[in-house]
Amino acid sequence: MVQKDLKVLLDVEDVPKQYYNINPDLPEPPAPPLNPATKEPIPPEALKTIFPNELVNLEISGERFVNIPEEVREMYIRVNRPSPLCRATRLEKYLKTPAKIFFKREDLNPCGSHKPNTAIAQSYYAMKEGITRLTTETGAGQWGSALAFANCMFGIKTTVYMVRVSYDQKPGRRTIMQMYGAEVFPSPSERTKFGRKLLKENPAHPGSLGVAISEALEDMMTAKDAKYSLGSVLTSVITHQTVIGLEAKKQFEMIDTKPDVLVGCVGGGSNFGGFSYPFIYENKKKKLNARFVAVEPKSVPSMTEGKYEYDFGDSAGMTPTLLMYTLGHNFIPSPIHAGGLRYHGCAPSLSNLIKNKVVEAVSYPQLDTFQAADMFAKTEGIIVAPETSHALKGAIVEALNCKKKGEEKVICFNLSGHGLLDLGGYDKFLSGQLK
Ligand SMILES: *Cc1c(COP(=O)(O)O)cnc(C)c1O
Repeated sequence: MVQKDLKVLLDVEDVPKQYYNINPDLPEPPAPPLNPATKEPIPPEALKTIFPNELVNLEISGERFVNIPEEVREMYIRVNRPSPLCRATRLEKYLKTPAKIFFKREDLNPCGSHKPNTAIAQSYYAMKEGITRLTTETGAGQWGSALAFANCMFGIKTTVYMVRVSYDQKPGRRTIMQMYGAEVFPSPSERTKFGRKLLKENPAHPGSLGVAISEALEDMMTAKDAKYSLGSVLTSVITHQTVIGLEAKKQFEMIDTKPDVLVGCVGGGSNFGGFSYPFIYENKKKKLNARFVAVEPKSVPSMTEGKYEYDFGDSAGMTPTLLMYTLGHNFIPSPIHAGGLRYHGCAPSLSNLIKNKVVEAVSYPQLDTFQAADMFAKTEGIIVAPETSHALKGAIVEALNCKKKGEEKVICFNLSGHGLLDLGGYDKFLSGQLK
C-alpha cells in the first residue's frame, strides 16, 4: 500500500474561499508608507493613482479573512489549484534523516511558479475597474509571465520591464510573455528617462528589480493610460498568496500531522509569506508550535545583514518609502541565477515578523543551493528553480540537524517554482563554472 502522506490532494471545491490577511495579527501595527519628501504617511487615495483601487483597499485592510471572488477562484482551478502537498521520502532516505520532509508544489501551473496566485487577483480587479493596461517589472521572468498570462485571460494589455541579465540569461521567459501578448523590454531600457541615465553611466548595466520597478512606474506615470502592478513585497500581494498556506494547513490536517518547521525562499517575500502566514496565525492561536525559516542568497542579504529602516521600494526613489530590512535602494545585486531573489528590500510585513523574532532568517551561497537542487533532481526527480533551491537548502539543513539530534521533526518547504527555464544556470553548475 502506498503511504497516505506521499501525496495529499484536496478537491476542486477546497480552493480557499477566503484569503488570510496578516495585518491584524502582526506583532507591531504595520508602519505606513511615507512620502519621502515630507516624511508624512501617504494617504491611500494617493496610492490609488498607482495601483488598482482594490489592491490598495486590501493593503490597508484590518479584516483577517477576505472573500475571494468566484471568477478568481475559477481561474485558480484552471491553473491547477488546489496544488498537491508531497513528501520527499527518497530525499529523506538519501539524507538518512529521521525527519519527515514535505513540500507544497507551486510549480504545477502554466507559468511554473506561485506568481499566478496574485497575478490572477490583480488582473481581475484591474479588469473590474476598467483598467486597460498594466505595467510591471520582472526579474527572472516568472512574475512577467504570470501577469501576462492573467492579463491575457482577463483582456488587459501588459508592458514588462525585464532585468537585463535575466533577459539575456533566460530568453525563453520573454517568449512566454510574448505568447501571452505582452510587450517586453530589457531594463535598463532606452524607453524611460531613468533607464537612459543608467545606460549612459554604464552601457553594460546588468539591471536589478529596483531599476525595473522604476522604469515600469515611470512608464505608467508618463503614459497615463495604465496602472502599475507589483508582484511581491506588498501585504496585499502576500494576502493573495495565502491560498498556498491555507491549502497546506488543510492538507496537514488530512494526514493528522503538524509541521514543526516551515521553510521558504525570499525575494520580496510573497511565496514565503503566502505559505507561512496562515501557520503563523495557528501559532498565535497556540494551535501550533512551529518555527519559520526564511532563506535568502548570501549575495543579497537584506534580511540577515540589511538595516531595518525606511527605504524606497525601487532604485530611482520614485516610490513611497517602506519600513523594511534593506540593503539600500542603490544596492546592485551580483548577477546570480536566482533572479527572483535579487531585490534590495524585503516585504514590510515579513520584516516586522523578523524584527519581532517570529520568523528566522538565514542565507546561503549560490553554489550550496545549486548542490541542493542537484540532490533533489537526483533523488525526487524534480528540477527546482534556482530561487526555490534556497528553500530546499534550508530544508536540508533542518533535516540534517534532526539527524544529528535524532529528532523526528516534520519539515515543509514551499516548492515555489520549477527550473526548466533556468537550464543555463544548471549548465554552468554541471560544468563547474558556477561561483
Ligand atoms: C519570484 C520568485 C521567487 C521570489 O519572490 P517572492 O516574492 O519572494 O516569492 C521565488 N521563487 C520563484 C520560483 C519565483 O518565481
